[in-house]
Amino acid sequence: MLRFDVITIFPDFFREAFDYGITRRALAAGLVETKAHDLRQWATDKHRTVDDRPFGGGDGMVLKPDPIFDAVKHIAGFRRRADYPPDLRVVLLSPQGQVFTQLLAADLATNASQIVLICGRYEGVDERVVEALATDEISIGDYVLSGGEPAAVVVVDAVVRLLPGALGSETSATYESFSDGMLDFPQYTRPPEIEGMRVPDVLLKGNHAEIARWRHQEALKKTERNRPDLVKGSQD
Ligand code: SAM
Repeated sequence: MLRFDVITIFPDFFREAFDYGITRRALAAGLVETKAHDLRQWATDKHRTVDDRPFGGGDGMVLKPDPIFDAVKHIAGFRRRADYPPDLRVVLLSPQGQVFTQLLAADLATNASQIVLICGRYEGVDERVVEALATDEISIGDYVLSGGEPAAVVVVDAVVRLLPGALGSETSATYESFSDGMLDFPQYTRPPEIEGMRVPDVLLKGNHAEIARWRHQEALKKTERNRPDLVKGSQD
């Protein structure tokens, strides 16, 4: 069983976030557990302050380190990365992190039994959280969100569907985009014709070898067109 603990100033954001589709099924089957924790529980003043002005000046506010250290200690039992067991991952969501990939999702799905996700807000999080607490600093892409909450949902979703038993068929994830360094092939369903566009004949004829060849070629074409970096990466 894989446990996700999200540290956030907006726990209500997650009230229904995992209540759909594959994540919902995985929760019901006991494959995963999720809990959103309000960071303000670990504030120590009567205003429940969790942010402060940046040293050195500049705009905005920064999430303070002390409530986050206390939260991780309470949730996972440790105040320093050096003491963690190998199956505990503490992820700071940040545009400055390494870009999240299917490979990293698979690493988390395979090697973690608890994943703590820290959601930043405002100008971000005190850097000492990166230095001493985070095992992973993860960005979901080269753009800036207002907070880590949508990124946390992305990470949970991508990891959960890779857990054995989470998908309807054990093999489904094997044939998806990125699993073999390529995008998935184009899919078609009924009707066989719409707006003058016909489903490719090869898919209607039932020759499995030809279908496999066609799918491979189309996946390659699509990858070259939309993600030439993946094709280049596979040749490096
Ligand atoms: N000042 C920061 C910077 O320029 O790098 C941006 C802070 S952003 C407005 C607030 C929070 O949103 C971040 O601390 C992080 O938790 C989250 N966030 C923003 N973009 C993200 C991304 N691409 N991936 C993951 N988290 C992101």
